[in-house]
Amino acid sequence: MLSRVIRPNRVIRGPVFQPNPVSSRRTGSSLRLQAQVADVSKGIDTAGCSLPAFIGNPNIQSEPSVVGPIGTPPYDSPGAAKLENVLANPVSFEIQSDRDEFWRKVPYWADVTAKDFLSYRWSLQVLATHDSSLHSSVWDIVLLTSMNWQVANTVQGTVKLFKFLQAVVPEEVPVDKLGMQMQSRDEFIKDVLDGVAAATMAIRMTPYILSRINWLDPRHDPIARQFLPMKSVMLPDHPKLTLDSLHETADSPVKGLVHRYTDKALFLPTSVCPTYCMFCTRSYAVGADKNTVTKASLKPTRRRWEEAFDYIQSRPELQDIVVSGGDSYYLQPEQLTLIGERLISLPNIKRFRFASKGLAVAPTRILDESDGWVNALIDISNKAKKAGKSMALHTHFNSPNEISWISSDASQKLFENGVMVRNQTVLLRGVNDDYETMSTLIRQLADNNITPYYVYQCDLVERVEHLRTPLQTILDLEAKIRGSIAGFMTPSFVVDLPGGGGKRLACSYQSYNRDTGVSTFVAPAITGRDKADKVYEYYDPVDMLPEASRGVYKPSI
Ligand code: SF4
Repeated sequence: MLSRVIRPNRVIRGPVFQPNPVSSRRTGSSLRLQAQVADVSKGIDTAGCSLPAFIGNPNIQSEPSVVGPIGTPPYDSPGAAKLENVLANPVSFEIQSDRDEFWRKVPYWADVTAKDFLSYRWSLQVLATHDSSLHSSVWDIVLLTSMNWQVANTVQGTVKLFKFLQAVVPEEVPVDKLGMQMQSRDEFIKDVLDGVAAATMAIRMTPYILSRINWLDPRHDPIARQFLPMKSVMLPDHPKLTLDSLHETADSPVKGLVHRYTDKALFLPTSVCPTYCMFCTRSYAVGADKNTVTKASLKPTRRRWEEAFDYIQSRPELQDIVVSGGDSYYLQPEQLTLIGERLISLPNIKRFRFASKGLAVAPTRILDESDGWVNALIDISNKAKKAGKSMALHTHFNSPNEISWISSDASQKLFENGVMVRNQTVLLRGVNDDYETMSTLIRQLADNNITPYYVYQCDLVERVEHLRTPLQTILDLEAKIRGSIAGFMTPSFVVDLPGGGGKRLACSYQSYNRDTGVSTFVAPAITGRDKADKVYEYYDPVDMLPEASRGVYKPSI
């Protein structure tokens, strides 16, 4: 049983740690949970694919660390006393001031300074100290390895996730929004582990995004809902859900290059992201393999990239390239430069964009002066302008809760340096599917000089039925939002047509049967691969259909 009824108005306390479960009070359920972690981690979802060299480097240790052997409670780690102090006091996850050090509310990071939290890049600091007592010019070279804090503390894979959840989840969390029903920490963690096993995407979350979650009520948190699968909230898939719903593989003349629109192509140099979204449209390729899915390989090899460049060069009708993935954040600065300069040098290419969720999930990298990624991006942006071409960064915020003073500072830095930033939001049930949340998000993006470019209807990918909304929701949102903010800050509300018809305005449907939940669209400009005159269908989630219609579909588990 996952939950139990409690009395109303119960106070939710912060996490309280038990004594070492190995040596004394390890509960039966804890043991079972740890066995489950071990089982899940036998799979291959704990490792990223094609990671930069610093990821997984055994020489990089985090301090304080979320990571430890299974069964080693986190309070055994250095800094345990301070951690216990934090835990003794109930914590609030509400943001308290403009420049609140919000991450400190996560127990493991209670002592992390702003300087550390903001550091992103692996670096080697060389401190030279002169020892005058030696009466000589002897310099003691002290080498301090300063870790890439955000990367080293990223929670990746089930083992790290288990340890992290044990540390931050309170003894009980609300099951319903009123807190009338509660679930124990073990029950919640089991729910998540079951969700991870069922999901198509691997687990990876940056400290930044983890610290934006309200851990006192994770089941209803709009950020947790996107990145932390919970089995109990998942719904059986609509039978039309697939791994590659946009038929990207079929539209790829070269591996990792999708050519669907006449003048635009999508280049996928990598398949790794700083944080994995459970609703990823590229679930077929992005992230590590799961027990449930063997991913298409899109390794960042020069040879594959050259094939893509050759194809782009050979097609004069191509003028616009989207560099996505995976995430451009996981390209090394030199790789970003290489791709940018190559695209600038191609006479047929007039515009290109780098797609990255980095600004939303790891904005510290943009502020970290010691990291070369943002400098490479600004440099490419300037070079593109000099060449009379347009370069933009396309990012991916879905909830106002993802925006903090850090992301605002990062956006400002990009703005001051002339980098055009546009945002693509995915409409998700329980995350941003109400007017207040969506309009707040759009306005906050605009205030940060990020153009709210698209709001997407969630794609028909597997294991996202609980996150999808009916078409009617996006229609209603557009009707209310259009006219409430300047037109150039009003996003296009679109459906990326299943089957590879490209993006169409949601309101441009040909037909919409609200009983069956089937809407139809045409895409006259998309004619390749016998698509002329093709009619594309979008399907509303089964549980949102009128009760009499639900039986028509036989959902798959
Ligand atoms: S950042 Fe984009 S590519 Fe990466 S998992 Fe999320 S949706 Fe997929």
